[in-house]
Amino acid sequence: MTDHPEILLPDDAGITRAAELLARGDLVAMPTETVYGLAGDARNPQAVARIFAAKGRPAHNPLIVHLARMEEAEDLVDLPAAARTLAAHFWPGPLTLVAPLRPDHRLAPAVTAGLPTVALRLPAHPLARQLLEAFGGPLAAPSANPSGRISPTTADHVIAGLGGRIAAVLDGGACHVGLESTIIGFDGEQAVMLREGGLSRDAIEAALGTQLHARDAAKITAPGQLASHYAPRARLRLNVRAPTPEELWIGFGPDCSGAALQLSESGDLAEAAARLFAALHEADLRADQIAIAPVPDSGIGAAINDRLRRAAAPRTPESEA
Ligand code: AMP
Ligand code: MG
Repeated sequence: MTDHPEILLPDDAGITRAAELLARGDLVAMPTETVYGLAGDARNPQAVARIFAAKGRPAHNPLIVHLARMEEAEDLVDLPAAARTLAAHFWPGPLTLVAPLRPDHRLAPAVTAGLPTVALRLPAHPLARQLLEAFGGPLAAPSANPSGRISPTTADHVIAGLGGRIAAVLDGGACHVGLESTIIGFDGEQAVMLREGGLSRDAIEAALGTQLHARDAAKITAPGQLASHYAPRARLRLNVRAPTPEELWIGFGPDCSGAALQLSESGDLAEAAARLFAALHEADLRADQIAIAPVPDSGIGAAINDRLRRAAAPRTPESEA
């Protein structure tokens, strides 16, 4: 790999160059509406091996495959009816669906960590869509950060974390959702919440007309959901209304005057989600101890709190959640 990644501009030349690098098996970080993804050709075993190596990601943690069109999903998996309903409502968007692979799928086996299912998403970000179209095939793309660290929501975050290990970054500015996708699996026809994320549980349940089941009650598992993840180097304390003088305080809502950083002055959860990882990156550069104000658990707040719990969890590697 190169010492410094190429910084590609969000124009036709940038997309063409990114597609060319991907076609020869190199890795390109691409903006999506959730976070920046580290994209590689999902059918090329060498490209997929490079993704795991660049991130230091454990091999048992499967990757999400990104697609331009619904027809490509139909070619790869057998979609349960509930999955079709969700795809019709929310694709393209911050929703990942896990479904059984068809026998003729042609994905590199490491993408799914050897599972008989694969996680699929159609991203909504215009640059991700243009790149998928230009490349013309499925792209495996986990978040473009070293495994276990804070996810990247700008090209600068990507370069700070993975700079020397990837060929290029397509710079699309800041990601507007700011949290990873919500992941839904299926136990037969029953939809199961595998990971909270950028699409709220309420929106999904409204579209399905039924409640989601919890992963723990279902037969299916989501490997790689680690207790410690999204972690800054600094120590992080949650639900703090009165920080100590040593702590850098990240506020939420109007009652946090004195906060060094604010997720949302007005208490808007979507704004807080979009700013969360950038605030953690910045706080981590400025302090050894971070405190964060309480964030309500409603709507996308559930995903924010999921990420915060993991960011604050004891750093025992490989402790499976
Ligand atoms: P990331 O790429 O870091 O957003 O992580 C993707 C997550 O999707 C993994 O850590 C798994 O928890 C989940 N996932 C991916 N593929 C599958 C699969 N085939 N079955 C269940 N969960 C999956
Ligand atoms: Mg990740």
